[in-house]
Amino acid sequence: MESKKHLVIEVVRIGQRLVRDDRVTTHVALVSRGFGAERIYMTEINPEIKDTIGKINNTWGGNFEIEFIEKWKPVVKKKKDEGYKIVHLSMYGENINDVQDSIGSEKNLLIVVGAEKVPREIYEMADYNVGVGSQPHSEISALAILLDRIQKGKQFEKEFPNAKRKIIPTKKGKNVQVKETRD
Ligand code: SAM
Repeated sequence: MESKKHLVIEVVRIGQRLVRDDRVTTHVALVSRGFGAERIYMTEINPEIKDTIGKINNTWGGNFEIEFIEKWKPVVKKKKDEGYKIVHLSMYGENINDVQDSIGSEKNLLIVVGAEKVPREIYEMADYNVGVGSQPHSEISALAILLDRIQKGKQFEKEFPNAKRKIIPTKKGKNVQVKETRD
């Protein structure tokens, strides 16, 4: 019997408003990593994001991956063929309160977030169109809330292997374990 509920969570970000979306894109990647996803696919190439996330993996552990893609559709199709459920975050979708349990019981998920207006087709390809409320806000917040609701906080117990630094949660101040390295 399968003991792990989510084998894999991956994220696709469709599009990017050039230049002014750089920080938002980085934050979408950071939330994906910090909230338990294993990989993010991005349609616009910004090599600095790979450096930023690479440094974070190096210090804080884990193998979170960024993959640059030319087109989102082949990725969504391939994942669908592999049995992933496609979860598209959209303020027009079903209220998260009504679908979080059903999504939470799925196995592998590909979560799709937009940057600006997303192509109509994604609404059809998605197994779930999910609204984190029906007001416009942000892909960063929508993604964080979805990841938290479906994993029920378990993502914050995840170990990030090979970390050089590990935070020991503490009531006051900072307690950071530093791993000795020989290089
Ligand atoms: N007007 C745009 C649209 O029609 O899609 C909204 C773009 S919004 C800045 C960027 C992304 O944030 C959206 O594609 C969606 O993935 C996410 N988003 C924003 N508000 C949301 C909400 N209430 N629920 C779920 N996702 C949301």
